[in-house]
Amino acid sequence: MRRKLAAGNWKMNGLGANLAELSALLAAQPDPACEMLICPPATLIHRAAAQAQGSTLRIGAQDCHAATSGAHTGDLSAEMLRDAGATHVITGHSERRADHGESDAIVRAKTEAAIAAGLTAILCLGESLGDRQAGRTLDVIRAQLAGSLPDQAGGATLVVAYEPIWAIGTGQVATLDQIGEVHAFLRAELVARYGETGNAIRLLYGGSVKHANAAEIFAVKDVDGALVGGASLTAADFAPIVAAL
Ligand code: PGA
Repeated sequence: MRRKLAAGNWKMNGLGANLAELSALLAAQPDPACEMLICPPATLIHRAAAQAQGSTLRIGAQDCHAATSGAHTGDLSAEMLRDAGATHVITGHSERRADHGESDAIVRAKTEAAIAAGLTAILCLGESLGDRQAGRTLDVIRAQLAGSLPDQAGGATLVVAYEPIWAIGTGQVATLDQIGEVHAFLRAELVARYGETGNAIRLLYGGSVKHANAAEIFAVKDVDGALVGGASLTAADFAPIVAAL
């Protein structure tokens, strides 16, 4: 049985005052059978983790460097993030692939570094609108998997998030059929790659998930939760998504 996961990605949003949202989330008494994660900006990880200590809320990071240490000004290693209190890290988000030129090979290296440091990696992939319109969605995803999946993965240490780029922050959510097709494909590819472990790896959908569409998305086969951007910024928006898991 795969444990459901609702992961919030705050992106470059959030100051200390916004940590009050974490208390509000916990006050909504989420089902402890599900996993709830918030990935605030790195500046807030330590405070957020201290605030969440002893609760069911986990705190994650939005990126890590592939190296363990060294001359990489401004970057953070997976070990540093874990030391600050993170339990998870997002790798390969499309905004990082676009803004920082992260290739599949870089994403793979970051994902392996995260797992080696004891973090759970949430590896993101997904097609562009052009890919989708050209009927290339599954080819693109197959190539992303081939290039970015870590050599070793466990059901607890790797999560794969399907995030069609055209659905991120646009309000345009993928249809249930589109989500179902890609998640079934991902599941089959993961089983082919890792054997039985592929059935234990959780698959998240991301892209304009909101309270209004969460329940129907979570009912799609092989959807084990969501990676949520905009609707994770406040407890008022995120708590009902967690409750829909
Ligand atoms: P969104 O972002 O929920 O705001 O569309 C999703 C994401 O980028 O993870």
